[in-house]
Amino acid sequence: MTEFASASSDLRAMLWDISDVVVDYDAEFGSKTTYRVGGRCSARITCGTLAALEAVLDLIAPRPIFVLGNGSNTLVGDRGWDGIVLVLSGEFEQIEIAGDRVILGAAVSLPVAARQLAAAGLGGMEWAVGIPGTVGGAVKMNAGGHGSQTSSWLEDAKVFRFSENGYELRAASSSDLSMGYRSSNIGDRDVVGSASFRLVSTKPPDSKRIISDIVNWRRDNQPGGQNAGSVFVNPENDHAARLIESLGLKGFKYKSAEVSSKHANFIQATPGGSADDVFDLIWLVQQQVEKELGIRLRTEIKLIGFDPDRASYLRGV
Ligand SMILES: Cc1cc2nc3c(=O)[nH]c(=O)nc-3n(C[C@H](O)[C@H](O)[C@H](O)COP(=O)(O)OP(=O)(O)OC[C@H]3O[C@@H](n4cnc5c(N)ncnc54)[C@H](O)[C@@H]3O)c2cc1C
Repeated sequence: MTEFASASSDLRAMLWDISDVVVDYDAEFGSKTTYRVGGRCSARITCGTLAALEAVLDLIAPRPIFVLGNGSNTLVGDRGWDGIVLVLSGEFEQIEIAGDRVILGAAVSLPVAARQLAAAGLGGMEWAVGIPGTVGGAVKMNAGGHGSQTSSWLEDAKVFRFSENGYELRAASSSDLSMGYRSSNIGDRDVVGSASFRLVSTKPPDSKRIISDIVNWRRDNQPGGQNAGSVFVNPENDHAARLIESLGLKGFKYKSAEVSSKHANFIQATPGGSADDVFDLIWLVQQQVEKELGIRLRTEIKLIGFDPDRASYLRGV
Protein backbone atom coordinates (compact mmCIF):
# COMPACT_ATOMS: atom_id res chain seq x y z
CA MET A 1 0.00 0.00 0.00
CA THR A 2 1.40 3.43 -0.90
CA GLU A 3 1.28 6.47 1.40
CA PHE A 4 -1.52 7.93 -0.76
CA ALA A 5 -3.70 4.82 -0.48
CA SER A 6 -3.39 4.70 3.31
CA ALA A 7 -4.39 8.38 3.54
CA SER A 8 -7.66 7.54 1.77
CA SER A 9 -9.25 5.07 4.17
CA ASP A 10 -11.55 7.67 5.78
CA LEU A 11 -12.77 8.82 2.33
CA ARG A 12 -13.81 5.25 1.63
CA ALA A 13 -16.12 5.30 4.68
CA MET A 14 -17.59 8.71 3.76
CA LEU A 15 -18.44 8.07 0.13
CA TRP A 16 -19.44 4.40 -0.07
CA ASP A 17 -23.23 4.92 -0.30
CA ILE A 18 -23.46 7.83 -2.78
CA SER A 19 -24.94 6.80 -6.17
CA ASP A 20 -23.32 7.71 -9.50
CA VAL A 21 -19.92 8.18 -7.89
CA VAL A 22 -16.81 6.14 -8.66
CA VAL A 23 -13.86 6.47 -6.32
CA ASP A 24 -10.39 5.26 -7.30
CA TYR A 25 -7.75 5.36 -4.59
CA ASP A 26 -4.07 5.91 -5.29
CA ALA A 27 -5.19 6.73 -8.83
CA GLU A 28 -3.46 7.80 -12.03
CA PHE A 29 -3.32 11.57 -12.43
CA GLY A 30 -0.41 12.70 -14.63
CA SER A 31 -1.22 10.07 -17.24
CA LYS A 32 -4.73 11.58 -17.54
CA THR A 33 -3.33 14.89 -18.81
CA THR A 34 -2.30 15.64 -22.39
CA TYR A 35 1.33 15.72 -21.16
CA ARG A 36 0.85 12.01 -20.26
CA VAL A 37 3.68 12.16 -17.70
CA GLY A 38 3.62 12.69 -13.93
CA GLY A 39 2.51 10.80 -10.85
CA ARG A 40 -0.63 9.69 -9.06
CA CYS A 41 -3.14 11.32 -6.68
CA SER A 42 -4.48 10.00 -3.38
CA ALA A 43 -8.00 9.61 -4.81
CA ARG A 44 -9.87 10.34 -8.02
CA ILE A 45 -13.61 10.84 -7.59
CA THR A 46 -15.78 10.69 -10.70
CA CYS A 47 -19.29 12.16 -10.39
CA GLY A 48 -21.93 11.28 -13.00
CA THR A 49 -24.80 13.56 -11.90
CA LEU A 50 -25.32 16.98 -10.39
CA ALA A 51 -26.87 15.38 -7.29
CA ALA A 52 -23.81 13.15 -6.86
CA LEU A 53 -21.47 16.12 -7.25
CA GLU A 54 -23.43 18.12 -4.70
CA ALA A 55 -23.31 15.25 -2.18
CA VAL A 56 -19.59 14.66 -2.72
CA LEU A 57 -18.72 18.35 -2.38
CA ASP A 58 -20.69 18.59 0.87
CA LEU A 59 -18.66 15.71 2.29
CA ILE A 60 -15.20 16.61 1.07
CA ALA A 61 -15.58 20.41 1.40
CA PRO A 62 -12.66 21.21 3.69
CA ARG A 63 -10.13 19.16 1.70
CA PRO A 64 -8.14 20.47 -1.24
CA ILE A 65 -9.39 19.24 -4.60
CA PHE A 66 -8.19 19.58 -8.15
CA VAL A 67 -10.96 19.57 -10.77
CA LEU A 68 -9.63 17.75 -13.82
CA GLY A 69 -11.15 18.37 -17.23
CA ASN A 70 -9.17 16.93 -20.12
CA GLY A 71 -5.87 17.87 -18.45
CA SER A 72 -4.86 19.89 -21.52
CA ASN A 73 -3.57 22.78 -19.45
CA THR A 74 -2.08 20.84 -16.55
CA LEU A 75 1.31 19.37 -15.62
CA VAL A 76 1.56 16.98 -12.63
CA GLY A 77 4.92 16.32 -10.92
CA ASP A 78 6.53 12.87 -10.99
CA ARG A 79 5.93 12.37 -7.26
CA GLY A 80 2.20 12.95 -7.79
CA TRP A 81 -0.14 14.91 -5.56
CA ASP A 82 -1.50 13.97 -2.16
CA GLY A 83 -5.01 15.28 -2.78
CA ILE A 84 -8.40 14.54 -4.36
CA VAL A 85 -8.88 14.86 -8.09
CA LEU A 86 -12.49 15.44 -9.10
CA VAL A 87 -13.69 14.32 -12.54
CA LEU A 88 -17.12 14.99 -14.10
CA SER A 89 -18.84 12.55 -16.46
CA GLY A 90 -22.34 11.30 -17.46
CA GLU A 91 -24.81 14.19 -17.08
CA PHE A 92 -21.92 16.63 -17.42
CA GLU A 93 -21.23 15.43 -20.97
CA GLN A 94 -24.64 16.55 -22.27
CA ILE A 95 -25.29 19.15 -24.97
CA GLU A 96 -28.77 20.76 -24.95
CA ILE A 97 -29.79 23.04 -27.79
CA ALA A 98 -32.84 25.34 -27.57
CA GLY A 99 -32.98 27.84 -30.46
CA ASP A 100 -29.81 29.93 -30.40
CA ARG A 101 -29.10 29.01 -26.76
CA VAL A 102 -27.03 25.99 -25.88
CA ILE A 103 -26.28 24.47 -22.49
CA LEU A 104 -23.04 22.51 -22.37
CA GLY A 105 -22.11 20.26 -19.46
CA ALA A 106 -18.71 21.01 -17.96
CA ALA A 107 -17.24 17.72 -19.21
CA VAL A 108 -18.23 18.31 -22.86
CA SER A 109 -15.19 18.23 -25.12
CA LEU A 110 -14.65 21.56 -26.90
CA PRO A 111 -13.87 20.03 -30.33
CA VAL A 112 -17.01 17.83 -30.07
CA ALA A 113 -19.13 20.87 -29.13
CA ALA A 114 -17.69 22.96 -31.99
CA ARG A 115 -18.56 20.29 -34.57
CA GLN A 116 -22.03 19.47 -33.18
CA LEU A 117 -23.04 23.12 -32.95
CA ALA A 118 -21.81 23.77 -36.48
CA ALA A 119 -23.83 20.80 -37.75
CA ALA A 120 -26.89 22.18 -35.92
CA GLY A 121 -26.53 25.54 -37.72
CA LEU A 122 -25.18 27.44 -34.73
CA GLY A 123 -22.14 29.63 -35.33
CA GLY A 124 -19.69 31.35 -32.99
CA MET A 125 -17.89 28.47 -31.30
CA GLU A 126 -15.94 27.19 -34.32
CA TRP A 127 -12.65 28.34 -32.71
CA ALA A 128 -13.16 25.72 -29.97
CA VAL A 129 -12.39 22.90 -32.43
CA GLY A 130 -8.66 23.54 -32.00
CA ILE A 131 -8.64 23.45 -28.19
CA PRO A 132 -8.47 19.94 -26.72
CA GLY A 133 -10.10 20.83 -23.39
CA THR A 134 -13.52 20.68 -21.77
CA VAL A 135 -16.16 23.35 -21.25
CA GLY A 136 -15.33 23.55 -17.50
CA GLY A 137 -11.65 24.13 -18.23
CA ALA A 138 -12.54 26.67 -20.94
CA VAL A 139 -14.73 28.70 -18.58
CA LYS A 140 -12.07 28.74 -15.85
CA MET A 141 -9.24 29.59 -18.28
CA ASN A 142 -11.35 31.77 -20.59
CA ALA A 143 -9.90 29.68 -23.38
CA GLY A 144 -9.88 31.14 -26.85
CA GLY A 145 -8.18 31.51 -30.16
CA HIS A 146 -8.66 32.60 -33.77
CA GLY A 147 -10.02 36.00 -32.65
CA SER A 148 -12.60 34.72 -30.18
CA GLN A 149 -12.82 33.39 -26.64
CA THR A 150 -15.20 31.71 -24.20
CA SER A 151 -16.38 34.97 -22.59
CA SER A 152 -17.51 36.34 -25.98
CA TRP A 153 -20.31 33.75 -26.16
CA LEU A 154 -20.94 32.75 -22.55
CA GLU A 155 -24.30 33.75 -21.11
CA ASP A 156 -23.80 32.21 -17.71
CA ALA A 157 -22.17 29.30 -15.95
CA LYS A 158 -23.43 27.20 -13.03
CA VAL A 159 -20.60 27.19 -10.53
CA PHE A 160 -20.27 25.53 -7.13
CA ARG A 161 -18.48 28.28 -5.21
CA PHE A 162 -16.39 27.27 -2.22
CA SER A 163 -16.28 29.32 0.98
CA GLU A 164 -15.60 28.56 4.62
CA ASN A 165 -19.32 27.69 4.91
CA GLY A 166 -19.00 24.99 2.26
CA TYR A 167 -20.29 24.92 -1.32
CA GLU A 168 -23.09 26.97 -2.88
CA LEU A 169 -24.35 26.55 -6.45
CA ARG A 170 -24.67 29.90 -8.24
CA ALA A 171 -25.32 31.11 -11.79
CA ALA A 172 -22.64 33.58 -12.83
CA SER A 173 -22.33 35.73 -15.97
CA SER A 174 -18.97 36.33 -17.67
CA SER A 175 -18.70 39.69 -15.89
CA ASP A 176 -19.48 38.04 -12.51
CA LEU A 177 -16.61 35.68 -13.36
CA SER A 178 -14.20 38.57 -14.18
CA MET A 179 -13.09 36.78 -17.31
CA GLY A 180 -9.91 38.23 -18.76
CA TYR A 181 -7.03 37.00 -20.90
CA ARG A 182 -6.80 33.26 -20.01
CA SER A 183 -8.22 34.00 -16.57
CA SER A 184 -11.36 34.18 -14.43
CA ASN A 185 -12.11 34.44 -10.74
CA ILE A 186 -13.08 30.74 -10.54
CA GLY A 187 -11.07 29.52 -7.56
CA ASP A 188 -9.09 26.29 -7.31
CA ARG A 189 -11.82 24.68 -5.20
CA ASP A 190 -14.75 25.99 -7.29
CA VAL A 191 -16.43 23.59 -9.69
CA VAL A 192 -18.14 24.57 -12.95
CA GLY A 193 -21.10 22.25 -13.61
CA SER A 194 -22.39 23.63 -16.92
CA ALA A 195 -22.33 26.73 -19.07
CA SER A 196 -24.90 28.30 -21.36
CA PHE A 197 -23.95 30.13 -24.53
CA ARG A 198 -25.96 32.39 -26.85
CA LEU A 199 -24.88 31.71 -30.44
CA VAL A 200 -25.87 32.93 -33.91
CA SER A 201 -27.64 31.04 -36.65
CA THR A 202 -25.41 30.03 -39.52
CA LYS A 203 -25.31 27.77 -42.55
CA PRO A 204 -23.61 24.48 -41.54
CA PRO A 205 -21.33 24.43 -44.64
CA ASP A 206 -20.01 27.91 -43.68
CA SER A 207 -19.20 26.79 -40.13
CA LYS A 208 -17.67 23.56 -41.41
CA ARG A 209 -15.37 25.55 -43.72
CA ILE A 210 -14.19 27.70 -40.79
CA ILE A 211 -13.59 24.56 -38.74
CA SER A 212 -11.60 22.89 -41.45
CA ASP A 213 -9.43 26.04 -41.90
CA ILE A 214 -8.74 26.08 -38.15
CA VAL A 215 -7.85 22.38 -38.07
CA ASN A 216 -5.44 22.87 -41.00
CA TRP A 217 -3.90 25.97 -39.42
CA ARG A 218 -3.28 24.08 -36.16
CA ARG A 219 -1.72 21.15 -38.01
CA ASP A 220 0.65 23.50 -39.86
CA ASN A 221 1.60 25.72 -36.92
CA GLN A 222 1.48 23.66 -33.74
CA PRO A 223 3.21 20.44 -32.73
CA GLY A 224 1.40 17.21 -31.89
CA GLY A 225 2.65 14.88 -29.17
CA GLN A 226 2.74 15.38 -25.43
CA ASN A 227 2.16 18.99 -24.41
CA ALA A 228 -0.40 21.34 -22.87
CA GLY A 229 -0.43 24.04 -25.53
CA SER A 230 1.16 27.39 -24.73
CA VAL A 231 3.17 27.21 -21.51
CA PHE A 232 3.37 30.96 -20.86
CA VAL A 233 0.75 33.67 -21.29
CA ASN A 234 1.79 36.33 -23.75
CA PRO A 235 3.17 39.48 -22.11
CA GLU A 236 1.40 42.70 -23.10
CA ASN A 237 2.04 43.64 -26.74
CA ASP A 238 4.37 40.69 -27.36
CA HIS A 239 4.43 36.94 -27.80
CA ALA A 240 6.12 34.53 -25.42
CA ALA A 241 7.09 32.34 -28.38
CA ARG A 242 8.88 35.25 -30.09
CA LEU A 243 10.85 36.05 -26.92
CA ILE A 244 11.90 32.43 -26.40
CA GLU A 245 12.86 32.05 -30.05
CA SER A 246 14.89 35.29 -29.97
CA LEU A 247 17.19 33.63 -27.40
CA GLY A 248 17.80 30.65 -29.68
CA LEU A 249 15.86 28.30 -27.40
CA LYS A 250 13.51 26.88 -30.06
CA GLY A 251 14.27 23.15 -30.21
CA PHE A 252 16.38 23.29 -27.00
CA LYS A 253 16.46 19.92 -25.23
CA TYR A 254 16.80 19.31 -21.49
CA LYS A 255 16.92 15.65 -20.42
CA SER A 256 13.59 14.15 -21.61
CA ALA A 257 11.93 17.54 -22.32
CA GLU A 258 12.18 19.83 -25.32
CA VAL A 259 11.14 23.31 -26.43
CA SER A 260 9.14 22.51 -29.57
CA SER A 261 10.99 23.23 -32.78
CA LYS A 262 7.60 24.10 -34.35
CA HIS A 263 6.31 26.58 -31.72
CA ALA A 264 8.67 27.91 -29.05
CA ASN A 265 5.91 28.42 -26.43
CA PHE A 266 5.11 24.68 -26.47
CA ILE A 267 7.32 22.54 -24.23
CA GLN A 268 7.09 18.86 -25.05
CA ALA A 269 7.40 15.74 -22.93
CA THR A 270 8.49 12.47 -24.49
CA PRO A 271 7.02 8.96 -24.13
CA GLY A 272 8.40 7.45 -20.92
CA GLY A 273 9.80 10.87 -20.01
CA SER A 274 9.58 12.89 -16.83
CA ALA A 275 7.23 15.70 -15.77
CA ASP A 276 10.00 17.07 -13.54
CA ASP A 277 12.20 17.48 -16.62
CA VAL A 278 9.40 19.47 -18.29
CA PHE A 279 9.06 21.62 -15.16
CA ASP A 280 12.84 22.20 -14.98
CA LEU A 281 12.90 23.21 -18.63
CA ILE A 282 9.99 25.64 -18.09
CA TRP A 283 12.02 27.08 -15.20
CA LEU A 284 15.20 27.36 -17.30
CA VAL A 285 13.35 29.12 -20.13
CA GLN A 286 11.59 31.52 -17.75
CA GLN A 287 14.85 32.37 -15.96
CA GLN A 288 16.72 32.87 -19.23
CA VAL A 289 14.05 35.22 -20.63
CA GLU A 290 14.03 37.21 -17.39
CA LYS A 291 17.84 37.45 -17.22
CA GLU A 292 18.45 38.29 -20.89
CA LEU A 293 15.36 40.34 -21.75
CA GLY A 294 14.14 41.62 -18.38
CA ILE A 295 10.65 40.19 -18.97
CA ARG A 296 9.11 37.93 -16.36
CA LEU A 297 7.01 35.38 -18.24
CA ARG A 298 4.28 33.71 -16.20
CA THR A 299 2.81 30.30 -16.83
CA GLU A 300 -0.64 29.70 -18.26
CA ILE A 301 -0.51 25.98 -17.47
CA LYS A 302 -1.40 24.68 -14.01
CA LEU A 303 1.53 23.13 -12.14
CA ILE A 304 0.52 20.53 -9.54
CA GLY A 305 2.83 18.64 -7.18
CA PHE A 306 6.03 20.68 -7.68
CA ASP A 307 8.19 22.73 -5.33
CA PRO A 308 5.65 25.39 -4.15
CA ASP A 309 8.11 28.31 -4.22
CA ARG A 310 9.30 27.70 -7.77
CA ALA A 311 5.72 26.95 -8.94
CA SER A 312 4.45 30.24 -7.39
CA TYR A 313 7.32 32.16 -9.00
CA LEU A 314 6.43 30.66 -12.39
CA ARG A 315 2.76 31.56 -11.88
CA GLY A 316 3.83 35.13 -11.19
CA VAL A 317 2.47 35.27 -7.64
C1 LIG B 1 -2.40 21.26 -28.42
C2 LIG B 1 -3.04 22.26 -27.48
C3 LIG B 1 -3.48 23.48 -27.99
C4 LIG B 1 -4.08 24.41 -27.14
N1 LIG B 1 -4.51 25.59 -27.67
C5 LIG B 1 -5.14 26.48 -26.87
C6 LIG B 1 -5.64 27.70 -27.42
O1 LIG B 1 -5.54 28.00 -28.60
N2 LIG B 1 -6.27 28.56 -26.58
C7 LIG B 1 -6.43 28.29 -25.25
O2 LIG B 1 -7.03 29.10 -24.54
N3 LIG B 1 -5.94 27.14 -24.70
C8 LIG B 1 -5.32 26.24 -25.48
N4 LIG B 1 -4.83 25.07 -24.94
C9 LIG B 1 -4.90 24.87 -23.48
C10 LIG B 1 -6.16 24.13 -22.96
O3 LIG B 1 -6.68 23.26 -23.95
C11 LIG B 1 -7.25 25.08 -22.48
O4 LIG B 1 -6.80 25.89 -21.42
C12 LIG B 1 -8.50 24.32 -22.01
O5 LIG B 1 -9.55 25.22 -21.78
C13 LIG B 1 -8.24 23.51 -20.74
O6 LIG B 1 -9.35 22.66 -20.55
P1 LIG B 1 -9.18 21.28 -19.77
O7 LIG B 1 -10.53 20.71 -19.57
O8 LIG B 1 -8.21 20.40 -20.45
O9 LIG B 1 -8.57 21.81 -18.40
P2 LIG B 1 -7.60 21.08 -17.38
O10 LIG B 1 -6.21 21.09 -17.89
O11 LIG B 1 -8.19 19.78 -16.97
O12 LIG B 1 -7.70 22.13 -16.17
C14 LIG B 1 -7.25 23.46 -16.36
C15 LIG B 1 -7.76 24.30 -15.18
O13 LIG B 1 -9.18 24.35 -15.25
C16 LIG B 1 -9.75 23.80 -14.06
N5 LIG B 1 -10.97 23.07 -14.40
C17 LIG B 1 -11.16 22.10 -15.32
N6 LIG B 1 -12.45 21.73 -15.34
C18 LIG B 1 -13.08 22.46 -14.38
C19 LIG B 1 -14.41 22.53 -13.89
N7 LIG B 1 -15.41 21.76 -14.36
N8 LIG B 1 -14.69 23.40 -12.88
C20 LIG B 1 -13.72 24.20 -12.35
N9 LIG B 1 -12.45 24.19 -12.78
C21 LIG B 1 -12.13 23.33 -13.80
C22 LIG B 1 -8.67 22.89 -13.49
O14 LIG B 1 -8.86 22.69 -12.09
C23 LIG B 1 -7.43 23.69 -13.83
O15 LIG B 1 -7.25 24.72 -12.90
C24 LIG B 1 -4.22 24.11 -25.76
C25 LIG B 1 -3.78 22.89 -25.26
C26 LIG B 1 -3.20 21.96 -26.12
C27 LIG B 1 -2.74 20.63 -25.57
